[in-house]
Amino acid sequence: MKRGILFALALLLCGGIACAPRKTRYSETRYDLFDTVTVLTGYAESEAAFSETANRVFEELAAYHALFDIYHDAERNNLKTVNDCAGGDPVPVDPAIIDLLLLGREVDALTGHRVNITLGAVLALWHDARTEALEHPESAASPSGDALRDAARHTGFDLLLIDEAAGTVRLTDPRARLDVGAIAKGYAAQRVSENLPDGYLLSVGGNVVAKGTKPDGALWSVGIQDPDDAAALLLTVTASDLAIVTSGDYQRVFTADGVRYHHIIDPETNYPAVRWRSVTVLCADSAAADALSTALFLMEREDGEALLKQFGADALWVAPGGERFMTEGFRERIKG
Ligand code: AMP
Ligand code: MG
Repeated sequence: MKRGILFALALLLCGGIACAPRKTRYSETRYDLFDTVTVLTGYAESEAAFSETANRVFEELAAYHALFDIYHDAERNNLKTVNDCAGGDPVPVDPAIIDLLLLGREVDALTGHRVNITLGAVLALWHDARTEALEHPESAASPSGDALRDAARHTGFDLLLIDEAAGTVRLTDPRARLDVGAIAKGYAAQRVSENLPDGYLLSVGGNVVAKGTKPDGALWSVGIQDPDDAAALLLTVTASDLAIVTSGDYQRVFTADGVRYHHIIDPETNYPAVRWRSVTVLCADSAAADALSTALFLMEREDGEALLKQFGADALWVAPGGERFMTEGFRERIKG
């Protein structure tokens, strides 16, 4: 009898530990979400098991993308609907939109209005100039200072009414616009990663979330791009249960009259910020990491450091001359 119990125990142990099925690494890439490249990598017991997880992840991301899209209509009211209805009636929206806008309001306050999702009217001028420039490089032009100043009069959170109880949103100024590009990918990656098993790495256009470790306990390695060379890495960091997000002046660029313009706009000047080439943030929460990387890109290092402390986050700053600064916690994560 005793031997029987021992045998059963051995079987149990074998099933639970020694004979655990080997996991294989799989990866899937999508090009249709958030106007960027999304890659899911993960370890699963079979291709079918990985596909099931990947399908769920991409479905959830697609739903967030549709809701937060300001350029295309969706089946339900989305942020384009909110922008289109500016100056009109309150728009009933999905709770995820309310949640994102409340986060945006918090980020605006925390960053001294530097990261401000109500800057849409200004950002739309830059977006249109970039689209024009990429289509017709010969006639590329930046928006005029007058047009930018005029648009800037139609920004600010006093123009955005969020009614949590009614589940509605309203822009009170017909020319006001929302642009959630600075926080939406990180928010979506965070929500999606909360349902992701350990042993997965999700990158939504460089908003990376490392979930757990690899099955053998090894940490994930995440490369940080060299701002001067899209094909080169500045360095690699190790990560588990961590978000890694970079804001850089090499993304969404166009050239006009020999000047290169990028996509992160300093609300003090209405022009692309020139303080840093890139800022990478490491933070447990991906939504916070996304907001922080844009915020630090728009701030002096000391102000950024104070903000990082509030979130227990770390950062790497790359200055225009190539000089690098990093917090101690960031340094400790550098591989090799
Ligand atoms: P990120 O890549 O997360 O740093 O965000 C950059 C994106 O955020 C841009 O492509 C714009 O859509 C938007 N954006 C640019 N400047 C600002 C700003 N000062 N505040 C809020 N959103 C911004
Ligand atoms: Mg951001």
